[in-house]
Amino acid sequence: MGIQPHNGSPRLIQRAYKFRCYPTPAQQRALACHFGAARWVWNFGLNARSKAWRRRTESRSGVDISRLLTTLKRTHRHAWLKATPATVLTQALRDQDRAFSNFFAGRARYPRFKKRGHAQAIRFQLDQRQVHRAYRPGYLTLPGLGEIKLRWSRTPGGIPKMVTLRRSATGKYFVTFMCEEVAPGVGPAAYAAVGIDLGLRDLVVTSRGDRALAPRHYRDDLRRLKRQQRALARKRKGSARWQRQRRRVALTHERIANRRTHTLHQITRRLIDDNQVIGVEDLNVRGMLSNHHLALSIADAAWTELRRQLTYKAAWGGREVVVIDRWAPTSKTCSGCGHRMTAMPLSMRHWSCPACGATHDRDVNAAINIQRLATGGRPECQARGGRTIPCGDAAPAVLAPAACEARINPAPDAAERTAVTG
Ligand SMILES: [Zn+2]
Repeated sequence: MGIQPHNGSPRLIQRAYKFRCYPTPAQQRALACHFGAARWVWNFGLNARSKAWRRRTESRSGVDISRLLTTLKRTHRHAWLKATPATVLTQALRDQDRAFSNFFAGRARYPRFKKRGHAQAIRFQLDQRQVHRAYRPGYLTLPGLGEIKLRWSRTPGGIPKMVTLRRSATGKYFVTFMCEEVAPGVGPAAYAAVGIDLGLRDLVVTSRGDRALAPRHYRDDLRRLKRQQRALARKRKGSARWQRQRRRVALTHERIANRRTHTLHQITRRLIDDNQVIGVEDLNVRGMLSNHHLALSIADAAWTELRRQLTYKAAWGGREVVVIDRWAPTSKTCSGCGHRMTAMPLSMRHWSCPACGATHDRDVNAAINIQRLATGGRPECQARGGRTIPCGDAAPAVLAPAACEARINPAPDAAERTAVTG
């Protein structure tokens, strides 16, 4: 692990865009059919593959299923599939191919059947000869749907090959796609490294003592969500009242997620702009979640999103994200002298070190230790071009790098593929 020199050549990245779109009632009806057809094809393909595997240990590819589908479409019973653009059905099978290869590589669970009523999505391959006609101010043209009204909240830097259209659980429609473009430029960092501690009260605390509080409206949202979920549990499942209540719950979830994403974009932008190396804990809250603790599960989603944003923005800007092993004793080690406390209850926000007498803010102390682990214990870091830039504090390194398994995040291309902005 080291600080990579910044090379001057422009970095090409895959940037994701997301726009809200407003299909007409007729387009919504057509979309409902397309969603249904894509789901049917997915389930049909999954069934055929699972059977072939169970009975004859044969593996079937998306191409086999696609051929089967072509014959099916000719039959009277399945002629309805012809109403959906072929590209939508082909893409559903391609997605399934990917789901299977992820499963065989041990990266994912066995693909599951898709149910009605969940968030739905279909993908379109755009005809590159006609794609120049796809964009028009306020509209996007898609196969089998025509011009869909769209709010272009920003201008994409390229032309997409593939477009995904999604209907959220709250009934809103979104268009997402990727464009290859030049990475947005980031200037040289003011600091070589920063460590960040993640918490419930303060979302982020840095080794320099900066804090990003959980948003003020968050508590109100959380209280509303709890009330709405209780109300949902009282209603008869599947009834009209239950459906209505379920939509309310989904809307609150959506608002929490939107506000969270907005706040996190600001936090991660600052962290990336200011620092060359960002050390972050590898938190796995799922293990400690007891019977769906709501506040913790929402915070967990925020931390996951923070890591995701940091990773792709770091890849774009030539910065480095170092993930610290979650068993590293970052909270109970004194960042001044290295003395390790035996116990450190969560309620203890401030403490004094019995060995050196230093007083610590619990979170800032942990963040300083995380920063040290991220830079391998180097008190100051050589920045690009041999220039020495401050790490944020001058105290000697006390945690041996061997005490943790710091590792660099996944390859930039993997990070970029999941990046979403817009
Ligand atoms: Zn101490």
